[in-house]
Amino acid sequence: MSLLVVGTVAFDAIETPFGKTDKIIGGAATYISLAASYFSKDIHLVSVVGSDFPKESLEMLKNHGVSLDGLQIKEGEKSFFWSGRYHNDMNSRDTLITELNVLADFDPIVPESAKDCDFLMLGNLMPVVQQKVIAQLKKRPKLIVLDTMNFWMDIAMDELMKTIAIVDVLTVNDAEARQLSGEYSLVKAAQKILLMGPKVLIIKKGEHGALLFNKEQVFFAPALPLEDVFDPTGAGDSFAGGFIGYLAETKDISFDNMKRAIIFGSAMASFTVEKFGVERLVGLTQAQVDARVQEFIDLVQFDISLV
Ligand code: AMP
Repeated sequence: MSLLVVGTVAFDAIETPFGKTDKIIGGAATYISLAASYFSKDIHLVSVVGSDFPKESLEMLKNHGVSLDGLQIKEGEKSFFWSGRYHNDMNSRDTLITELNVLADFDPIVPESAKDCDFLMLGNLMPVVQQKVIAQLKKRPKLIVLDTMNFWMDIAMDELMKTIAIVDVLTVNDAEARQLSGEYSLVKAAQKILLMGPKVLIIKKGEHGALLFNKEQVFFAPALPLEDVFDPTGAGDSFAGGFIGYLAETKDISFDNMKRAIIFGSAMASFTVEKFGVERLVGLTQAQVDARVQEFIDLVQFDISLV
């Protein structure tokens, strides 16, 4: 089923304890689309870049089956730029620079071919832009997933709350869940957030996995213990891409299928962190993805007979 992805397509500069990059390509929608492309074959991207964005990177997205009809290229302008530095534990980071550039006055245009999409992934972006995308659709998608971050909570909380109110699934990290709810306990935070609109909440906990909540149930997916974690940037977006890509392909939005989907999301995130930027996420084979998912199955499978 068709999937529409909205979010940033960007340049990132990243510092981790293992090294530092100059401007490399990143952006929430880039990671989401690449991760989803291993499951869904009908992906449309709505975003904006400046004329400084490399043509080869756009070709790379097309080669992954991502339609760029909804990508605006602004002549003579600069792409969104984000820079971050990770702490030694790699689980937390500081944003050093956020330059909105082309994003500052971005007016999204959903192409005709994507206006009847079945699945909508609202990647990290201004909440108002996310709402404008929903307003252009011919019908409400089967499922709307929203990912956001503290940056928008700090500067656009009212608008963010309006977007949160109209989505089905919200994904945030543990610190953002606490900020949004004002609760330290993640269980209490989930209860509060699920009153704000979404029927399902995913709380990402970096190397400590992810929690999936609805009002009655909770499910946990671990992160794969990896030998080398070079760069966690985009892990959350890759997770979201794998999650919604799997749901779009299986056409099943039950809580049970979402349990499977967060394993596929976690598998895609585990690839992303193994190299800087999107490098590891490009050109994976189906066999590599399957083998990674199998590692997750082996990691958590155990037999207990209770007497
Ligand atoms: P993640 O590590 O999954 O949170 O996503 C990192 C990606 O988000 C980077 O590639 C950035 O380009 C992008 N990003 C960082 N800050 C923002 C922001 N305020 N709005 C949208 N995208 C952002």
